[in-house]
Amino acid sequence: MNTPTLNGPVAVIGAGTMGIGIAQVAAAAGHPVRLFDISAPAAQRALDGLAQRLRQRVAAGKADSAATEALLARIRRADSLDQLADSALVIEAVAESLAVKQSLFRDLEALCSPAALFASNTSSLSITAIAGALQHPQRMAGLHFFNPAPLMKLVEIVGGLETSAATLNALRALADRWGKQSVQCRSTPGFIVNRVARPFYAETLRALEERVADAATLDAVLRDAGGFAMGPLQLTDLIGQDINYAVTESVFQAFFQDPRFTPSLVQQELVAAGHLGRKSGRGFYRYGAELPAPAARYAPAEQGEAPQRVTLHGDWSPLADFAELLARNAAAVKQPGQTSAFATLDEVTFMLTNGKTASQIADETGTPVVLFDLSANYAPAPAVAISCAAQNEARHNAKAIRLLQSLGKRVILLPDYPGLLVMRTLAMLANEALDVVNKGVASAADTDLAMLHGVNYPRGPLGWSAALGWRHILATLENLQQFYGEARYRPMPLLRRYAAPSTAPSSGAER
Ligand code: NAD
Repeated sequence: MNTPTLNGPVAVIGAGTMGIGIAQVAAAAGHPVRLFDISAPAAQRALDGLAQRLRQRVAAGKADSAATEALLARIRRADSLDQLADSALVIEAVAESLAVKQSLFRDLEALCSPAALFASNTSSLSITAIAGALQHPQRMAGLHFFNPAPLMKLVEIVGGLETSAATLNALRALADRWGKQSVQCRSTPGFIVNRVARPFYAETLRALEERVADAATLDAVLRDAGGFAMGPLQLTDLIGQDINYAVTESVFQAFFQDPRFTPSLVQQELVAAGHLGRKSGRGFYRYGAELPAPAARYAPAEQGEAPQRVTLHGDWSPLADFAELLARNAAAVKQPGQTSAFATLDEVTFMLTNGKTASQIADETGTPVVLFDLSANYAPAPAVAISCAAQNEARHNAKAIRLLQSLGKRVILLPDYPGLLVMRTLAMLANEALDVVNKGVASAADTDLAMLHGVNYPRGPLGWSAALGWRHILATLENLQQFYGEARYRPMPLLRRYAAPSTAPSSGAER
């Protein structure tokens, strides 16, 4: 089959949250769009709602009136599937049921031209299984938009076992023309984003279950110290605890109950109680105009002694921005070397967490130890998270806290939790991303793009890990695996290869 150009009419089936958004995107790109829903009133409500939202933007001076009316005029309601017969592309966004989607595409195949392409917006069903209902499964692929479709830039283009290269190429070209960032992946559970993102939620949910800190403090670690746009618990409240739990559960089952995807009992409890997040008024947080947002717990302004001498030892290039920050302290001196980076604040060892507890490292070094957590960008981060060895005296901890406070940071003092939170989260994200790459589900570059544009991570997990050093990622996971004795933290084969000096790629985001 030659690569079709897909300039013709686009049919969107299902006028719910996703369908109407996808119809808007296609119409904005100039396609005539037909919108069909099994419930004609639902389709009409969706169209009326869209018209109202877009005209409000015009009234607010945020959109052009003529262009808005032209866009709206391009979308027409279809009252039967027959009216979709001349579509160049049909995108379905109906209920998440394999039987419903298969039956729909069977009907469409009997109606539409053999040149028409079929796409499913499914989040969790196998594209191979949906296409299995077709005589010509080559013409079918996943076109996975993110909510809200007009705003979220990412589209995952998902190939089933039989999807032709021509179909994938045509959809990729189309997504580009629609102004989307497309990535390509094979039909596997969770595709890229919903699989690689699992640890972002799971590690913080685990920390909450292990009573490391309250929800607001844990969220602040990922957000204010780590550089993520939102904390994981905050984000699950926005997504809906039921939806987020269902995605985890579905990926867990689809991977034959692999322990690395084990759902959280804390989250299951919330769902059981109907505490679904913002939409029910209560999740990890309570919502209501009169309620103040709960505050994270920060270390109070430290009264103890500041360090007399701050020395940066070893190779700080993977943490150059933090080194620069520390070097602003008048007492700081650099002693470059080949060893991995650590600092001494007088007699206190101060270093990035590596999956061991501070107390373990204090036993090994015979010094007081304070560990700091990872950040996507230390300079603008308003906070830094740290943990202190049990062997330390209070004055040792005070030196680290004073130093960070003198650099304008708020300090989140966590218990001595191995891998702290951002570091263990990145290690797990990277481990999953490497499994995606190793199994040919997606390229490294597309995997990073998917996480940057599908969930707005501050850095792609692979590029971020390559910059930090694969050996540090591997060490973090090995130490966590040893600490917990769980297969959840087992390093993936590609991570072992990347971390071996002889086989490390020149850049983590290329392969
Ligand atoms: P929704 O419940 O808001 O809308 C589904 C619509 O499909 C309803 O209007 C329903 O009347 C209609 N429908 C059901 N069966 C139909 C049929 N046989 N023929 C025609 N119309 C039918 O659902 P949604 O959230 O828009 O999700 C739709 C699809 O998109 C699902 O496959 C879902 O997994 C996927 N998805 C959802 C999101 C999200 O965040 N909501 C994100 C990405 C993908």
